[in-house]
Amino acid sequence: MGSNEEPANSSQLFNDHANELLKIINGSANARNKKVEVMAEHVHEMQTIYATRLDGLIAKLLQVEKERDNLKNMATQVQPSVIADQLTFAQVASGSVAPKQNSKHSQKHILHIMPKEGDQNDSMSTSFNTTRQILTNTVPISQLGIGIQKIQQHKSTGLSVYCRNDQEVHKLKDALQNSDKLTAEIPVKRNPVITILQKGTVIKPTLTDDIIQQNPQLTDKDGIKIVYKSKPTRQNNTIIKLEVSPLNYRAIVFNDYRLYIGDECARARDEDPTLQCFECGRFGHKAANCRNKRADQERMCMNCGQRHNGACQASEPKCCNCSHHNELVISRKWNDKVDTKHSALDRANCTMYKRAKEFASQYINYEY
Ligand SMILES: [Zn+2]
Ligand SMILES: [Zn+2]
Ligand SMILES: [Zn+2]
Repeated sequence: MGSNEEPANSSQLFNDHANELLKIINGSANARNKKVEVMAEHVHEMQTIYATRLDGLIAKLLQVEKERDNLKNMATQVQPSVIADQLTFAQVASGSVAPKQNSKHSQKHILHIMPKEGDQNDSMSTSFNTTRQILTNTVPISQLGIGIQKIQQHKSTGLSVYCRNDQEVHKLKDALQNSDKLTAEIPVKRNPVITILQKGTVIKPTLTDDIIQQNPQLTDKDGIKIVYKSKPTRQNNTIIKLEVSPLNYRAIVFNDYRLYIGDECARARDEDPTLQCFECGRFGHKAANCRNKRADQERMCMNCGQRHNGACQASEPKCCNCSHHNELVISRKWNDKVDTKHSALDRANCTMYKRAKEFASQYINYEY
């Protein structure tokens, strides 16, 4: 459009241009709107996606916080034993290291193997050693790929076979399933029992529920029950024995044997699983089941190791169990004599008691 063009046409041209421009503007506005719409749609889609993601993240965060609180709680509960044992919390939490208090009860994996009836009656031919011989002849132990830590005499002619783990115990048991000479049995383990002293002589029937309520570390709600209540002691207390599941037992050990009961903090003690007979003084049975009790004999004296009535006149103690052991040592030419100058009730100094306790502890489920 030059300046020499006629003005008559110029208004028409202006209108045309204006319309054209309006069209362009309107058109691009529509196009812009379309773009904005598409973008808005995208944003909305993304909003939905991110909102869902955000919800997920928030839920996760809450869970992590909850776990952190639980761990904190556990940490405060295990702290005393952790410090005592110089372990890190991570080690304890992962279960890779057992606390020191627990290590005195290392878990054993035992299989009892007995000769079958017919062989047992023939006592001339069957002994601990022949049973052992039969075992090695019957089972290709090396082919089973199991490791036997030791074999001990069980009852008169049987074996206690110690494997490395429970899988190996089952493997060995399965291998003997069709044997016509030997039977195998996995010994049943009992739950641990702890002893506590309760103020007064009235024990609430809700005691175990209350203990669970007051001691949140005991996570096994059904894993606690009263197995014994004493008559009132001289101080008018009651001794209570509680059988606890291995899980609860571990928690009690973690807490240094502390249990909060009512308005006090009770100290639990391990019940000694060793049985001792007051008729013959031997370990492993009670007087009611004593086979060494004879009508024509006096009761065994726990002080001097002789059978007599009345007060003991001996000038120094002599343990009947350690003496008996030494007699076996001499007759079997072992090299394992022990000290005998203590009472058969002297648990701090009696070697045979310590061995009997270790033996009895094998049949208690201290670990889960
Ligand atoms: Zn006895
Ligand atoms: Zn005596
Ligand atoms: Zn002794």
